[in-house]
Amino acid sequence: MNDALAIAARLGLAAPQAVAVGDRWSAGSGAPLSVTSPIDNAPLAEFAAATAADVEAVVAAAHEAFLQWRAVPAPVRGELVRRIGEKLREHKNDLAALVTLEAGKITQESRGEVQEMIDICDFAVGQSRQLYGLSIASERPEHRLAEQWHPLGAIGVISAFNFPVAVWAWNAMLALVCGDAVVWKPSEKTPLAAMATHALVAQVVVAMDEAPPGIVGLVIGDAKVGDALARHRRLPLISATGSVPMGRAVGSTVAARLGRALLELGGNNAMIVAPSADLEAAVRAIVFSAVGTCGQRCTTLRRLIVHESIADELLARLVRVYEGLPIGDPRDEGVLVGPLIDAAAGEAMETALATAKEQGGRVLALGKDASPRVAETVPAGGVYVRPVIVEIEPDAAILQQETFAPILYVLRYAELDEAIALQNDVPQGLSSAIFTGDVREAERFCAPTGSDCGIANVNIGTSGAEIGGAFGGEKETGGGRESGSDTWRTYMRRQTNTINYGRDLPLAQGIRFDIY
Ligand code: NAD
Repeated sequence: MNDALAIAARLGLAAPQAVAVGDRWSAGSGAPLSVTSPIDNAPLAEFAAATAADVEAVVAAAHEAFLQWRAVPAPVRGELVRRIGEKLREHKNDLAALVTLEAGKITQESRGEVQEMIDICDFAVGQSRQLYGLSIASERPEHRLAEQWHPLGAIGVISAFNFPVAVWAWNAMLALVCGDAVVWKPSEKTPLAAMATHALVAQVVVAMDEAPPGIVGLVIGDAKVGDALARHRRLPLISATGSVPMGRAVGSTVAARLGRALLELGGNNAMIVAPSADLEAAVRAIVFSAVGTCGQRCTTLRRLIVHESIADELLARLVRVYEGLPIGDPRDEGVLVGPLIDAAAGEAMETALATAKEQGGRVLALGKDASPRVAETVPAGGVYVRPVIVEIEPDAAILQQETFAPILYVLRYAELDEAIALQNDVPQGLSSAIFTGDVREAERFCAPTGSDCGIANVNIGTSGAEIGGAFGGEKETGGGRESGSDTWRTYMRRQTNTINYGRDLPLAQGIRFDIY
């Protein structure tokens, strides 16, 4: 048994299987799916993938479970999520180790990902007692007008490889306290972490009498399985995290059946560094945001917009840090940059660099052999790359696209208005930041005329959001919001109640309709 399967077994997964309803596991009815580790390309598991037929069975079970779960008082549903949080706390390091083996994240970041799951559990437990409605003044005498929130149904969650477990938890923990059932289609690149998470959660669900096991379902397969979820009329809400093309496909399929979609898609995030910025803090934030998770976060910093008066100094400091970045096995203490997810990601990085050069880009921090590939001191079989900086003109077409790799484009600016316009001049709108010591500039950046992104930060980087705020972005990022704030409303249906406690029947707007 390899390390991944040994860890998964400790988390309660007897053998990898593609389909689960609560603690009942079954083989998928599709073709074999092989999982390898991005660390060294070692095989981790092979199992039969799920198909659309498997989706049918899991959704049917989820719908039945929902019919019971919706009647369980919300604070009792919160108790389930409290226990899930406790379970995750107990197994945090094992689950994180599995994320590292399967997604290639460094151990620190994998533990952070599991911590996010724990944090959203805590948040959702509190939320379970705060599913507040509204009391509204009625225009009619002896009438009460109110708004309340009811459970929505079974919801589908499609997740991406780069946050193989946390994104599911952001959705599922809120959905569960809201009285929904959840069917999860994780990335086919990271199925073991999903299976192990499901196995842990299913143990908690089956141990609680009030919870029907079918409230948590799992189907593992490729895009066709995601498409089957998107089409399913028993899933009133589909939450989908991934690339913009995936979001276009899922969004239009769900729209065609007039369902609801919560879309969390690609980013093309920028940071402005103003002359008054604390450069030391800026360098730390830039490096964490640009090279963390090897440039494979939706919030990864991709465009740095630096004032011309400090650009040379900032670039010199960044190049020094980039040249010393520890790249290697993500399990090793001290390594900050692990592998890319697969060979295609390495090729996408090389293609983007070649295109950037054609468009006038000047590549910095590339190392001696003019290739981002790193072959020495890293495990054989993985795709290890050196994060790079590319100085480029603002009109280069490559700036409009998200390449899921550690490439940081640098642009220079003279006036803040120009910098904000550059920052907003891309199709995506997820995360943004400004480093400045000037309160006017900071407020301008956060004002309606400032950043057009879902996230706008001051004196911190673009990545590493807390779960307390609503997370998501505008434009091609999809407009969805997950996690904190009032995001819970997405997982419920709103009902307006007008109650007449008098003996007359006055009509709204003063309309008279006398039948006697
Ligand atoms: P991807 O789009 O290739 O896959 C994401 C998920 O969608 C997978 O489960 C996949 O099987 C499924 N899928 C793909 N095509 C589908 C289709 N036509 N119908 C239904 N399901 C389909 O993305 P990825 O490579 O796993 O992840 C990287 C992308 O995700 C990047 O663009 C990144 O910015 C984005 N992302 C966004 C957020 C966010 O919150 N905004 C978070 C993480 C990742």
